[in-house]
Amino acid sequence: MDAEREIPARGSAPSGARGETSCGSAAWARSTPTGSQVLTGATVVLPTGTVKNGTLAVDGKRITETAPANAPHIDVSNHWLVPGFVDIHNHGGGGSSFSGTADDVLQAIRTHREHGTTTLVASTVTEETDQLVQRAGLLSELAEQGDLAGIHFEGPFISPCRKGAHSAALLRDPDPAEVRKLVDAARGQARMVTLATELPGGLDSVRLLVEQGVIAAVGHTDATYEQTVAAIDAGATVATHLFNAMPTLGHRAPGPVTALLEDERVTVELINDGTHLHPAALKLAFRHAGAARVAFITDAMDAAGFGDGRYLLGPLEVEVSEGVARLVEGGSIAGSTLTLDRAFQRAVTVDGLPVEDVVAALSANPARLLGKADEVGSLTPGTYADLVVLDEEFALKGVMRRGEWVIDPQLG
Ligand SMILES: [Zn+2]
Repeated sequence: MDAEREIPARGSAPSGARGETSCGSAAWARSTPTGSQVLTGATVVLPTGTVKNGTLAVDGKRITETAPANAPHIDVSNHWLVPGFVDIHNHGGGGSSFSGTADDVLQAIRTHREHGTTTLVASTVTEETDQLVQRAGLLSELAEQGDLAGIHFEGPFISPCRKGAHSAALLRDPDPAEVRKLVDAARGQARMVTLATELPGGLDSVRLLVEQGVIAAVGHTDATYEQTVAAIDAGATVATHLFNAMPTLGHRAPGPVTALLEDERVTVELINDGTHLHPAALKLAFRHAGAARVAFITDAMDAAGFGDGRYLLGPLEVEVSEGVARLVEGGSIAGSTLTLDRAFQRAVTVDGLPVEDVVAALSANPARLLGKADEVGSLTPGTYADLVVLDEEFALKGVMRRGEWVIDPQLG
């Protein structure tokens, strides 16, 4: 790994990043690989069920069946052990964005990692094609190094009627040749493209993405029910933040929400921050799609894990007040300030969802979508030792990634 691009230790914000004040305790230092260790006494959420007073063995970067007899034991009783979170839709955090420099990107990754997101796909916003191509080059380099799990292009192929916080002047119809240009620029690291499939070129672009092994996601769309069914039949498999930036569900115009919820081939993204969705709408979607077809996302922007203030989302100015991000012009919601540990806690304590279902929505399902279920998304021997330690109130107390403590529960 290029040393200059290494995720910096907490307490040593990268030069040029805006996040100096977010760095927390200077006592924290980047840990070295842990070797073997055994976590004991926790309630462990496994794919096969939840085990009380369970143990989890870690050897190097991976979870193992058993650890050597002399491996140190770490007591995490009265805590939950769950898989590290997988975020497939995220624009930034820690005062920095994935539309910034390499240091900005690393700052955002580090912030979300400290909140339990051990696998992260970086999302772009609508920009000129040349800028997106350049962006893809930088992000794919970080993905090749293992710091990111790939790139999600959100826009520019979205509906002017449902543009949300995307720059109206830069929107365009989905041209398969241009879609291909972005996918190629990502050098095998393009994971998902959000597009309004009802626009001219939309269905051909979906087919092209499927051919390229990239997820086609229906979003920022003004499609009808029938148009959305056509997109799913063409190969679209994800609903980008279901309900947000699409027509509402009407009894004579069931719209994209109904088509995306009812089709077994589709996974629906939900932003569980209490602002983007009413809790009843979230539960309705969860119940209808079933726990296996939901992916909780943050759709986070720079202010996540950082604080209120003025920010830029791509070229647009955003004001964040009391944790809610809105465009200065027009007042549209402009991403969230959510981190996935808060999404977890809220899902259990406010929404009343079963812990196992929340783990599926935060880890297993998005890992499967990315084709990475053999590596991340569950506490299964052989996968990476990516895990989160939560207390009895589901507050985050520890994070391990690739066998290294990002947040050490013994120091917290
Ligand atoms: Zn987004």
